[in-house]
Amino acid sequence: MRQTFLPFAQPDLDGSEIERVVEVLRGGWLTTGPRTRELETQFAGFVGSRYAVAVNSCTAAMHLALEAVGVGPGTEVITSPYTFAATAAVIQHLGGAPVFADVLPDTLTIGPSGVEAVLSARTKAIVPIHLAGHPAEMEPLLSLAADRGLAVVEDSAHAFPTKYRDKLVGSFLGTPEQIGRVPSASCFSFYSTKTITTGEGGMICTDDEELADRCRLMSLHGMSRNAWARYTQHGSWFYEIEDAGFKCNMTDVAAAMGLAQLDKAERMHTRRTAIAEAYNEAFKSCSALEIPSVRPNVGHSWHLYQLRLNLERLSIDRDEFIQELGRMNIGTSVHFIPLHIHPYYRRTYGFRPEDFPVAHREYLREISLPIFSSMSEQDVSDVIEAVLEIVEGAEI
Ligand SMILES: *Cc1c(COP(=O)(O)O)cnc(C)c1O
Repeated sequence: MRQTFLPFAQPDLDGSEIERVVEVLRGGWLTTGPRTRELETQFAGFVGSRYAVAVNSCTAAMHLALEAVGVGPGTEVITSPYTFAATAAVIQHLGGAPVFADVLPDTLTIGPSGVEAVLSARTKAIVPIHLAGHPAEMEPLLSLAADRGLAVVEDSAHAFPTKYRDKLVGSFLGTPEQIGRVPSASCFSFYSTKTITTGEGGMICTDDEELADRCRLMSLHGMSRNAWARYTQHGSWFYEIEDAGFKCNMTDVAAAMGLAQLDKAERMHTRRTAIAEAYNEAFKSCSALEIPSVRPNVGHSWHLYQLRLNLERLSIDRDEFIQELGRMNIGTSVHFIPLHIHPYYRRTYGFRPEDFPVAHREYLREISLPIFSSMSEQDVSDVIEAVLEIVEGAEI
């Protein structure tokens, strides 16, 4: 058994982040400026979107994108209950109502038939989550959106870099005929545990110029000109407030870290893929365990490695399994506690756990194992050994 605790997640930082952040500090321009613009350009180039707007979180990114597509009082937004609180909270902040569609059992993402079942005259948008870094089945969702005049805002917090039919999440994922017919945006997270980090940060990617402009305007007080355009030598003091905006712009300090992370994104992804393959290889023939399923034509980002327990083959439950791993110095997490079983959603909407049976059932048997690019070979084999040892002692 390992002597030190292996955390569930850890950012992969080296001298390059420190160097670039110090450079910004020495330069004296800390808030949104040239480094933020550079990160936007590079990120858009990486994923293949026409526009990218950097903000201070994915939560803010989704808030802005949903505002831009017209979510407001009296509207409904269809999303997954199998997600983080932020996904649904931003809908409520705009005065809209989240409407949940249960997830598909293999990928735990929402699918077209589940969405269709809860469509109403008030539906304004669909928010699919590319859970763990596996893309939702976007083509049918975009078809549905195109037919019904809905917008699509992807929660891509886990999906960098994720491939869907040879395109990276962040670019428009529909067919050529759908281009321009569906207002759409893809929102990424650079939170500390995500696949690249700026400490806190997020990005809105879109091909829609109007949508990008609206997000940029609303990210900084609804001001016609940002600080960079006002306080530099050739700037002007004048600005106008076009709307009651928010305040969620990215700092150049954060963007500098993001640029260093982006430079090594492919290396980090290769490493996470190798870890996922090692886990799959070790667990695939174990009847008490179910490894993540990956659909064809998909490139998984492996932000999360979601192991599922076949509880009928074990004498312990998921919580006990996690306790055992903790005793063996392995950190874990659970993704996610479905939103509909949290007190707020039960209280507000009267949900019961069985209202979204797949989400609830899968939550009860899910464990997220450590998967981050700075894990050593020893770390990986420690996790495998611990999991297999627990299974051996508890298999029935
Ligand atoms: C992390 C996460 C978010 C929020 O990202 P922040 O950058 O922390 O705001 C949203 N959705 C999902 C699915 C996430 O995991």
